[in-house]
Amino acid sequence: MRVIVVGAGLAGLTLAQGLRGAGIDVAVYERDDPLVRTQGVSLHVDDRGTEALRACLPSAHAAMVEATMGGPREQTLTLSEVDGALTVAGAQPSDGVAGRARPGRQVHRPLLRAVLLTGLEDVVRFGAEFTRFEQRADGTVRAWFADGGTDTADVLVGADGIGSAVRRQYLPHARVVNTGRRMLMGATALRAVADTGLLELIGHSPASVRVNGTMMVLGALRFTESPVAARQRWLPALPLNAVAQVEDYVMWALPITREQLGSAGSPAAVWRRAKELTADLPPALRSVVAEAWPDSTRALRGGTIPPIPGWPAGPVTVIGDAIHLAPGFGGNLAMRDAHHLCESLVQTYHGRLDLIDAIGVYENTMRRNTFSAPVATKAGA
Ligand SMILES: Cc1cc2nc3c(=O)[nH]c(=O)nc-3n(C[C@H](O)[C@H](O)[C@H](O)COP(=O)(O)OP(=O)(O)OC[C@H]3O[C@@H](n4cnc5c(N)ncnc54)[C@H](O)[C@@H]3O)c2cc1C
Repeated sequence: MRVIVVGAGLAGLTLAQGLRGAGIDVAVYERDDPLVRTQGVSLHVDDRGTEALRACLPSAHAAMVEATMGGPREQTLTLSEVDGALTVAGAQPSDGVAGRARPGRQVHRPLLRAVLLTGLEDVVRFGAEFTRFEQRADGTVRAWFADGGTDTADVLVGADGIGSAVRRQYLPHARVVNTGRRMLMGATALRAVADTGLLELIGHSPASVRVNGTMMVLGALRFTESPVAARQRWLPALPLNAVAQVEDYVMWALPITREQLGSAGSPAAVWRRAKELTADLPPALRSVVAEAWPDSTRALRGGTIPPIPGWPAGPVTVIGDAIHLAPGFGGNLAMRDAHHLCESLVQTYHGRLDLIDAIGVYENTMRRNTFSAPVATKAGA
């Protein structure tokens, strides 16, 4: 059995690791080059993501990810300003109930991606933009790429994110709706704000604060084990540059409207806008923004994909953001899709399930789990 995966994001790489580990022939095609930075700096990984990583990755890879996670995040704090000082005004349990985040731990996103790529060097082709597919009479699928190249396989998986070209051709009635919301995000070294008292206040918990109509969400990532030491212990094959100069930091986000963002586009302009928008916040929070790594600051668009009716299974399928969006926990859903699809395809590989039935089993589970999922929470920071 041969599988083509379009997209080397969280979903595509988790799937590729799982298939590779099971001995299945897999090829990943990624449009960007390997140095393009991924969305956001850190990721709240809950039980769904952790279970998928444990199931799909070699054990040393999974151990590397877990060793470098931040501490447990079991509640979401609400901060407020009292007499000019920040204080904790409330705490909600992270229990996954009623749209609240599930408990989890923070992961440094570029490090997770580097771990996911380790061992797949001969499987992932960068700079390869998928353009279309053709279902062939013999049941196989042929994929076409922007450079005119093609590849043929038994299964084509669209793991190509929100703008998925696979979804646009396969399920053209699925729509991406722009919510008009924007998220300004950045990251700041912990040492740069160590004297503000903020870090003692929030510990490992995500926290939000609203002052004069401006909302800010933040969370600290203190690596449980130093990434350099963890690499040495668990995954020496991981490129050294994935761990060198990685330090504890606080990630912050400002949910705003398109109008509030204005024309700011470059990281420097977005950072300036973030400083303007936080001018009324308490000094500790202003420092977090003012001391941010300028090129980590960016503005992201909010979108959603309304659920669509079920479709008959075939040799083409979609996983992750290509079929459902959840800004606060979509990465967990993406990795869980990869896990479930991998399990189904392994059944086929071992002759226990017809291929199309296996894809149908995955798609039914994915639709049941995600098309009724609650709207995004603020666990992302
Ligand atoms: C601000 C923000 C914060 C978030 N925080 C969290 C969080 O804390 N926890 C969480 O679980 N989720 C979070 N998410 C959601 C999470 O980032 C996404 O759900 C996740 O990245 C989806 O993974 P994916 O692999 O499906 O898609 P992507 O990560 O988008 O990967 C798709 C890949 O496909 C490639 N590609 C696209 N088109 C083509 C093509 N035509 N040919 C070849 N390759 C192509 C892209 O270059 C990309 O590498 C957050 C999202 C945002 C925006």
